[in-house]
Amino acid sequence: AIVGAGIIGLAHAFHAAQAGMSVAVFERSAEAKGASVRNFGMLALNAQAPGEQLISAQKTLTWWQEIAPQAGIELRQSGCMFVARAAEEMALLNEFSHSPAMEKQSAIMVEREDLSRYSPSLRSENIIGAMWSSETWKIDQRQACRKLAVWLKQKYGVKFYFLTDVQNISPPYLITSAGQFNATHTIICSGNDFAALFPDDFQKTGIKNCQLQMMRTYPQPMDWQLGPFIMGGLSMTHYKAFSNCSSLQDLVTMQKERFRSYIKHGIHVIVGQEPDGRVTIGDSHAYGTDLNLPRSEEVDNLILHELSEMMSLPVPRIEERWLGQYAYLPEGYYLKLSPRDGVTAVTQTSGQGMTHGLSISKDVILEITG
Ligand SMILES: Cc1cc2nc3c(=O)[nH]c(=O)nc-3n(C[C@H](O)[C@H](O)[C@H](O)COP(=O)(O)OP(=O)(O)OC[C@H]3O[C@@H](n4cnc5c(N)ncnc54)[C@H](O)[C@@H]3O)c2cc1C
Repeated sequence: AIVGAGIIGLAHAFHAAQAGMSVAVFERSAEAKGASVRNFGMLALNAQAPGEQLISAQKTLTWWQEIAPQAGIELRQSGCMFVARAAEEMALLNEFSHSPAMEKQSAIMVEREDLSRYSPSLRSENIIGAMWSSETWKIDQRQACRKLAVWLKQKYGVKFYFLTDVQNISPPYLITSAGQFNATHTIICSGNDFAALFPDDFQKTGIKNCQLQMMRTYPQPMDWQLGPFIMGGLSMTHYKAFSNCSSLQDLVTMQKERFRSYIKHGIHVIVGQEPDGRVTIGDSHAYGTDLNLPRSEEVDNLILHELSEMMSLPVPRIEERWLGQYAYLPEGYYLKLSPRDGVTAVTQTSGQGMTHGLSISKDVILEITG
């Protein structure tokens, strides 16, 4: 049995079904409503720390490339561009461009006058230079879980129990809002909900919630395309890809002085375009154990200000604003617990479940099946 039909639950359902297991997924909502449908759908291999996390992201991409066409989920190689507006940002990109990682990420430096060849609305008067990498993909996050569930049901006979809350697990029994079920093994993929099942086991790990604030514009004109995901200097210090660069510290120091409000709200700006032409903009990060913060106007304004320094969208008007939460731990990228014999709990803890889920779950299923 799998608890949760977000991407982590569905990824486990996929590998378990492929391994020949009989799989049932229990989801308390009518469909996935958590982080898995609230994100950017960004699979940024170029933003991964070198080593294990990069390998995990590469493996997940390979799985997506196999599954997405079969399940009818849109996946495209969007690429990604880090734009530098400050000397410290440019110094970091320049240093990175001489590292071996540059070639591995198929990254190239882009001169100010060439910016429009990559993305049409960047403000070249504000941007000193940029680094473009092909190693980022965009999955249609708003459709992925729904389509994956349909495909898993059709192709592998996975059973889905939506609107079914799992209230207690006492192996081999699952007590749910729809009655009692039997399972030889249960995998809990409850995302950022650590309160319902085995809360003490989760609590001991120091796990927290991270709350993010997001926005989406109305559709852009049909003949306009953003191209790659666009990120700025705040993303250079957020992601681990630049962690080996000695000039990173200068950028951190500069941001502490000049971007205080941004640092306070954990803001780094990412811009990505959806298949329907809308542009998704985010995000901020607030950490805590019992987070239920209201949406903050100040945070939206800071994000939109930073965006306006990087680019001018043809249709800047915001159509939708929302909050999202994911499970967070400062070290590592996922948490796996075994609170009882026959029960495993798995959650992705660096806010990149779309990027790592299919690889983490493959290892978990291999371990369970021996
Ligand atoms: C704003 C935002 C932007 C992000 N951007 C990206 C990105 O671009 N790329 C990327 O890789 N990652 C991104 N992430 C992270 C990614 O979305 C998450 O890591 C991932 O979606 C977590 O998946 P999940 O299945 O663990 O959790 P969820 O999607 O939250 O799913 C958990 C499910 O379990 C169900 N559930 C919980 N408890 C029970 C129970 N007791 N009984 C029944 N059902 C239960 C819930 O209803 C829910 O549907 C982002 C996250 C956020 C919030």
